[in-house]
Parts: sequence; structure tokens; C-alpha cells
Amino acid sequence: MVYKLEHVSDASAVEEHERKYGKYNDLPPNLEELTEAEFARSGFFTWCLENYEHRQPCRLTDAQAQAYGLAGQNLKLFYMNNTEGFAISNDYWDERIRYFRFRACVHEFRNPGPKDFARGVPRPRRCLHVGVCSKCGYVDVTDSSD
Ligand SMILES: [Zn+2]
Repeated sequence: MVYKLEHVSDASAVEEHERKYGKYNDLPPNLEELTEAEFARSGFFTWCLENYEHRQPCRLTDAQAQAYGLAGQNLKLFYMNNTEGFAISNDYWDERIRYFRFRACVHEFRNPGPKDFARGVPRPRRCLHVGVCSKCGYVDVTDSSD
């Protein structure tokens, strides 16, 4: 199956995205570097791609610059449909690729309760696992019967 990328030009959608994930010269939130082995086993290869973005971070804090050394490097960001994101960076002169994960929220899941069910969150059952993030409200539903 082939998907076609579509440019997002709606100003309010761009503004919301930048508020959540930063702008072109920023690092994405909650960035953590992955080893090649971690990336190979990551959700990058199983979740569906929702959005794609190119960045060149240069507005870095000293801590960020020291931690990642990504100032001026190319970052390809991949936003997956489970709220997780992945970034791939190339270091042209060192001839190597680096892998990262980022997230707008580092979810802390809890079991859903009556208030969640009232707003349409499904009830967990034998093969339906449901978690609600206590920080952002994201609902993770996994059907393990497939
Ligand atoms: Zn969350």
C-alpha cells in the first residue's frame, strides 16, 4: 500500500502542533537516544505513521546541546499513531546514523473508572486492555485477541 504525504498549511493546526512538539529549530519534547538494537525493536516498525517533519535544531539549551550534540544536524521526525515519535539523525561527516524516541507526554497509565466510561472509554474485558494516562488523558486500547 502506498500513502501520499500531504502538506499541513492550516495555521491553527500548525500552531497546535508547535505548541505540543516545538518548532523547526527545537528538539522535540522528551527526547531520548536509542541504540540501534533498541530502535530495531521499537514501535517504529509496527505503529502507523501519522505525520512526518524535518528539523534542524539550533535553539538548544546547554544541557540539550551537551546531551545530544545535535545543533545544526538534520532530524527526520516520524509521529506514530500511538502518540510515540521517532527521530533519525544523520551525521554526514562522521558517516553515522543516530536514533531517538520522543513524546509529548511520558504517559502514566491507570485503570479506567466510572468517569472514563461516562465519556466513552471502553470497559476492559478478557482480551481488551484499557489504560488512561493520568497526565494527558490519552486512552490506550489494545485488543490482544488478534
Ligand atoms: Zn500522557
